[in-house]
Amino acid sequence: MGLMHTLLLSCRKAAELIEQQSFAPLPPGQKVQLWMHTRICAGCKVFQHQNELMDRLLEQRVAEPLPIPTTQLEKRIIAAIDNHN
Ligand SMILES: [Zn+2]
Repeated sequence: MGLMHTLLLSCRKAAELIEQQSFAPLPPGQKVQLWMHTRICAGCKVFQHQNELMDRLLEQRVAEPLPIPTTQLEKRIIAAIDNHN
């Protein structure tokens, strides 16, 4: 396995790591791999941002119900994730 192969993630693997990151911090090696991937892959970068946004919204929602309806936003995020896959 060459160095580039080790460093470059597939989008599928990157998406896996992004989802994993919502539950637990990634090991440093995978964190670097994901960081590098999102430098060069706009699709996964967007996916990562949406994932982080979703996590924040969900956390807020657990802490206190949001005064604004987020159904439309959630639908848009889910649609964007579907498009990405
Ligand atoms: Zn990608």
